Parts: sequence; C-alpha cells; structure tokens
Amino acid sequence: MPSHMGPHSTAIFLSALTMSAIVAIRYLATSGFFAWLTRRVRPGLYDRLDTQMRREIRWSLMSAAIYGIPAGIVAWGWDNRGWTQIYTDISAYPLWYVPLSLFLYLFAHDTWFYWTHRLMHRPWWFKIAHAVHHESRPPTAWAAMSFHPWEALTGAIVIPLLVFIIPVHIGILAAVLTIMTVMGIGNHMGWEMFPRWIVHGPLGRALITATHHQKHHEAYRGNYGLYFRFWDKICGTDIGLGDFGLGRGIRNAGPRSRG
Ligand SMILES: [Zn+2]
Ligand SMILES: [Zn+2]
Repeated sequence: MPSHMGPHSTAIFLSALTMSAIVAIRYLATSGFFAWLTRRVRPGLYDRLDTQMRREIRWSLMSAAIYGIPAGIVAWGWDNRGWTQIYTDISAYPLWYVPLSLFLYLFAHDTWFYWTHRLMHRPWWFKIAHAVHHESRPPTAWAAMSFHPWEALTGAIVIPLLVFIIPVHIGILAAVLTIMTVMGIGNHMGWEMFPRWIVHGPLGRALITATHHQKHHEAYRGNYGLYFRFWDKICGTDIGLGDFGLGRGIRNAGPRSRG
C-alpha cells in the first residue's frame, strides 16, 4: 500500500503548497493595495506602526501556509476523486439557488466564526490562540490574517468543509473567497470604506463593516461576528458602532466602553 501512496502524497503535497502560495500572494496583493490606499486617503494613519505591520505580515504569511493545506487537499480530491459539491454547470441547480448559496456560505462561515471567536475570548483560549490577533493596536490593512496558527487552523477548515455539505457554483465560491478577503482587510484597516448611508442605515444594522469590528478591537468584549450582526444581536453581545477618532484616544482605558 505505501508503494502506491507515494505519487498521490506528492500530488497532494504539491496541491497544498500551490494553495498556500496562492493565499499568500492574494494576501500580499490585497493587503498591499489597501495599505497603499490607506496612505492615500488617511495619510499618517500607519505612522509609527512599522514594527507592528512587520509582525502582522509574518503571522499572516504563516496563516496563509496553514490555509493552503486543507484547501489544497480538497482541491486535489475535487480534481482527482470527484469530491465536494462544487459544480461548474450553472444550470445544475435552479437559478434562485445561486444567490441563496452565496448567503448560506456567508451565514455558515459567520456562525462558525462568531462561536469560535467568542470561545477564544475566554482567558485560556485567548492566551494560547487569539492574543496574537489583538496585539495589533490599532490593527492595519496587514492584520487581516494576523492569527496564531491555532486560530488560523479554525479559519482554514471552514470553507473546505462547507464545500462537502452545501452545493456551490465555482463562481460563487470565488465570490465567497473575494468577500472574505476584502472584508477581512477592510474591517481592520482603521477607516471606513463604505458610505455613511450604508454603515449608519438599515444595511449597517445587519452587516458588519470596519466601524463595527474596530469597536471589537477597542473594547475586547462584544462584536464577535464576521459578516452579520445577527448572532451578536440575538446573543446580546452587540456593542454598537465604533468611533475611530475617539477609540484611538481611549484604547488603553480598559475593556469597558459605552455601546
Ligand atoms: Zn477578538
Ligand atoms: Zn479582528
């Protein structure tokens, strides 16, 4: 048996390595773009954060390596073994299922993120896994994947597991990964890229943007969600929207902050 396992293990290893490289390049390109944009629209915002940003990049590249492993294994199985419920023929499912599948992926990811994130704010888990992410004070566009490997692992398995459970068109899967990347960076870059009518309007009451997640980084308690305020609201952990200017002044004042 081991004799014919050889070529497969090599192919799976190469697939994982390729995926890790893709995630790393995607991170450097997207975070790099938003860091550049930040220098244009908020000059000076990242001043004196060079050491922190280098650390964010190191942790993020390690996360990229971890993210690539389950993704690479599943990509190999999809290609060679017909694994997963990923489909390429758009007519394989009714058209109304296409937007629904996008929502299902975002909601499932958000649910997983909310509960694991909340758990990681318990003292023991915080210390071994989540403290790294909160060492960024305030986070920058480079902090999107700045996680300890334990935390990166919890994030790395979500989408590779979901593709076995929820049918998804390859284009929607690409959209999920794009939304994940852009929102992950946007929520950490220290300023709001969405217009006021979204953030402070009806949409902003349901969706999470930088103004919401920044408050998590200031208060440490509450606002645990990823895309939707749904779980925070029904669990009573939503502490409302932040205020970037004020937040920077009070960030050492402790965990209590008005919501
Ligand atoms: Zn946190
Ligand atoms: Zn964060």
